[in-house]
Amino acid sequence: MVTFLAGGTGTPKLLRGAEGAFDPANTTVIANTGDDVFLGGVLVCPDADTVLYSQADELDRERWWGIADDDTATHDAIVELSRAAGFDEGPRFLSPERQTEGRPLARWRRFSAVGEFMLIGDRDRAVHTLRTSLLDEGYGLTEATKRLAEAFALDVTLLPMSNDPVATMIHTPEGEVHFQDFWVARGGEPAVTDVEFRGAEAATPTAEVREALSEPVVIGPSNPVTSIGPMCSVPGFEAALAETPVVVVSPFVEDRVFSGPAAKLMQATGREAGTAGVAQTYDFADAFVIDERDDTRLDRPVVRTDTGIDTQADSARVARAVREALDRIV
Ligand code: GDP
Repeated sequence: MVTFLAGGTGTPKLLRGAEGAFDPANTTVIANTGDDVFLGGVLVCPDADTVLYSQADELDRERWWGIADDDTATHDAIVELSRAAGFDEGPRFLSPERQTEGRPLARWRRFSAVGEFMLIGDRDRAVHTLRTSLLDEGYGLTEATKRLAEAFALDVTLLPMSNDPVATMIHTPEGEVHFQDFWVARGGEPAVTDVEFRGAEAATPTAEVREALSEPVVIGPSNPVTSIGPMCSVPGFEAALAETPVVVVSPFVEDRVFSGPAAKLMQATGREAGTAGVAQTYDFADAFVIDERDDTRLDRPVVRTDTGIDTQADSARVARAVREALDRIV
């Protein structure tokens, strides 16, 4: 058995061709939920959904989110009607008092669909609607995710990191914004002074997550701050990682990032942006897979390969390197 920790890009890429090295039937994926939003009353789980769609071979691989060839008739109508009703484009983050009333899972992640600021495809929205209705019926997020994974005939087990609300809030000189406001609406442009995982101290890992963390863990290439940070902020999560063998694939080649805001966010949270900073952040890690062009010296075992993952063959190569690193420490 093996457990992968996933944000929305690196680990889904790695998993796509990993089955030669890791049997999907014995693979669990824990997805970050810090990026999740309640948009117009439906729960969007971007990281879990990317794993879901990627493993089901339905992911839009051009944009790396949403379902390939999806229509956007509903989104277009929402935006058009909002405009006709006299509203500007979103995001419209609800007021502080409306963030905490009603459904606890929605805390600090509630956006109005008026002027809908995220492009949600029609089929994608069907997933969010079903998920939210399962929550309404009394399912926990773990169970709702399990049912969706069944619907997509997933070969791996997919778990959200917690059934409780944890919202990634980005602190900027102009105030705090939810991660999706920062990333989707503002293009990651604002200066960042801090990153907060709101609700984390009251969250708990589920029994399923605790069990998965008792197996060897692979942290695929991930943003240490906003993908793995929310998980580690849940009480008990990091302690569990310290007790089990952990292999980390660097999302950097030395200090060069493949994509996304990892470098900026690591700097903003007082870390060195690069493979060395990743190793410092993960003091519980036992071995690393780093790029063959990366000369960073680390104090733990290292397997080097070309860590660029664009094709399934690339995923298979990096997955073999992960397997080799795991074999060295288990
Ligand atoms: P998010 O949820 O989309 O923000 O992203 P993740 O946390 O899943 O991963 C983003 C990290 O993966 C970034 O820091 C990228 O540098 C890294 N990454 C993206 N593509 C690759 C790749 O092909 N190889 C490696 N090694 N890292 C990658």
